[in-house]
Amino acid sequence: MPCPIPFDNSYARLPARFYARQEPEPVSAPSLIKVNDRLAAELGIDPGWLKSSEGIATLAGNQVPDGASPLSAAYAGHQFGGWNPQLGDGRALLLGEVIAANGIRYDIQLKGSGRTPWSRGGDGRAPLGPVLREYLVSEAMAQLGAPTSRSLAAVSSGDQVYRETALPGAVLTRVAQSHIRIGTFQYFSARGDREALELLLQHVLERHYPDSLEADNPALELLRQAINSQARLVARWQLLGFIHGVMNTDNMLLSGETIDYGPCAFMDQFHPDTVFSSIDHAGRYAYRNQPSIAHWNLSCLAQCLLPLLDADEKVALDLAQTAIDAFPDRFLAAYLQGMNAKLGLGEQRDGDRELGQELLSIMARQSMDFTLSFRRLAELASPDTDQAGVAGLITLPDALQPWLETWRVRMAQEQLEPARRQAEMFLANPAFIPRNHLVEEALAKATDLQDLEPFHKLLSVLENPFNYRPELSDFALPPRPEQVVRQTFCGT
Ligand code: AMP
Ligand code: MG
Repeated sequence: MPCPIPFDNSYARLPARFYARQEPEPVSAPSLIKVNDRLAAELGIDPGWLKSSEGIATLAGNQVPDGASPLSAAYAGHQFGGWNPQLGDGRALLLGEVIAANGIRYDIQLKGSGRTPWSRGGDGRAPLGPVLREYLVSEAMAQLGAPTSRSLAAVSSGDQVYRETALPGAVLTRVAQSHIRIGTFQYFSARGDREALELLLQHVLERHYPDSLEADNPALELLRQAINSQARLVARWQLLGFIHGVMNTDNMLLSGETIDYGPCAFMDQFHPDTVFSSIDHAGRYAYRNQPSIAHWNLSCLAQCLLPLLDADEKVALDLAQTAIDAFPDRFLAAYLQGMNAKLGLGEQRDGDRELGQELLSIMARQSMDFTLSFRRLAELASPDTDQAGVAGLITLPDALQPWLETWRVRMAQEQLEPARRQAEMFLANPAFIPRNHLVEEALAKATDLQDLEPFHKLLSVLENPFNYRPELSDFALPPRPEQVVRQTFCGT
């Protein structure tokens, strides 16, 4: 049977120094865990074929389908601020690209498919737990409206991978608009490879920002677009209480999608200093630092683009600096717009920023659950609703009363029917997020007991995060004290 993945591989047409051609390493006993039917259909891939023995062999890396052009990409990056001139796909392989029904080109990538020339000391493999975590959280993020890489499939490998203990192995099939990172630009910039930078610029504009191809200064346009898309992305993270955990420059995509779900986590109780990652000792990637880290990462991109911005070094620097200086305002605009939506406010008015800040200060002082608090506000916005809500799951503290009064006065300044306002607030304030304790429990059951039921169940709940269903209240509840997850691990 011919492979029904309609590959068209533009990255493989770039010069050889952009990647290493690399076949996946076969695994012992591939077994399907999950295919994302809806995503497959959007990509023009028959989900039925993905579930066939040939499809599963492809998803496991045991067979390379016709039209694929597998490669591991070269990139560099700053990891926790420290420069690493050579990283690259050490456990991932780009099988190829497809053009989806929406006209957008997507990478189809295997993660955990074996060693590559960039693996350094690593085994190129992925344990089952981190594969399931990435599947759950990336798909939840997509439903929560955050730009993100997607998960097309997960298969178990039948092999063990050795970390601190022996763990079952798995392979994830990841989909993104591209896997080109700030670190990809850094790789060529560090080598003084101007030709490669120009080709990469052209490639990224064609794929992600085609309207900027005809701009007078395409490199400047790329920088501006990257700034805008990162500002929107990180604003979305903040508004969801999402902490990425490893915002290294090699983990920030030019497409503006979230990538690399390692030690990421959603906050339960709100506190801006929250850090989950076990390796982030200094709290570099704490919740409150995410916008400024994005800003720093973008300045690394700007530095790479300097030779393409202008022949005159001084002019180039000025252009880069001006562009970079726009980031805080771009972020703030996206953030405030999103916060107003969460608070049921249509237009931006003086005092709105302080209103949101004050709410977050109270939440932090009172250790309030971020997600349920906002959801409860949505319920309060139209008091006569007869829908069962989260009232039984959270009690708002008395200390919030004065704030609630101010908020009600502010709401009354806009003519909006309460039921309508509430419906809109429900769409800005999810009831269900991938709570860490539920994610951990699903991963532990799968890893320790070969029980995938909790994974499938949690995934199905997260397909509909804005629609509260009282029979699923266990999935909306914050952890009990003994369930609280304090640290997350990369699990690579
Ligand atoms: P990450 O922390 O996932 O962004 O990975 C950082 C770098 O380490 C990338 O170059 C990865 O490809 C590489 N890497 C992570 N885990 C492994 C592994 N198990 N084997 C080989 N390379 C790895
Ligand atoms: Mg990475």
